[in-house]
Amino acid sequence: MTSLEHVAATLNPGRPLLIVDADEVLLRFVEHLETFFLTQGFELRLTSFQLSGNIYDQKTNTVAPPQMVTELIGSFFDKCVDTVPAVYGAASALENLSGQYEIVVLTNVPHAYRARREAALWDMGFKYPVLSNAGEKGPAVKALKAITKHHAAFVDDLPPQLASVANHAPGTHLVHFVADPRLAALITKAPDAHVRIDDWAKLQTHLGQIGQQ
Ligand SMILES: [Mg+2]
Repeated sequence: MTSLEHVAATLNPGRPLLIVDADEVLLRFVEHLETFFLTQGFELRLTSFQLSGNIYDQKTNTVAPPQMVTELIGSFFDKCVDTVPAVYGAASALENLSGQYEIVVLTNVPHAYRARREAALWDMGFKYPVLSNAGEKGPAVKALKAITKHHAAFVDDLPPQLASVANHAPGTHLVHFVADPRLAALITKAPDAHVRIDDWAKLQTHLGQIGQQ
């Protein structure tokens, strides 16, 4: 398993740090999950910014119970972690930003799937270290941020993760990014985020300017 300490040791402290989430930032997670659900007889109805309560058993037209959702998502990672497609423009934007930033992917994929996720991301052009995390991301961002003498930026789709980083690693530039346009329409800017951007070309420009400060 690639540890945080191992990744930290590879980072150049003389450059700013960019920490990016994977699902719904680099990867079209919900779209792929939705397709998988249909093969299992379940339908995702995006009526709010969450999975729980929005997954229906197509046979009974009732909401799938939490235990079933947990099992379905576990099965999804096992079968599909290698095949989640990239968000449009993400790989080229990050490649351009890699001239300026040290880049780390911080993802809440189960630890057992970290290596498969990293291999899949590298195949799509995201050639950066991938750290798996469980629960809130603030402590991991704090540890990574301690390495750089410059500032750090963090990009995630989930408001609680942006809040966690604001709490544990104050001073981090926080970007709220939601790739899926249907999800993006269901949520406003996270209260802790400095900016909300859902497009990688715009995010590249923004982070390019931030990185020069
Ligand atoms: Mg995410």
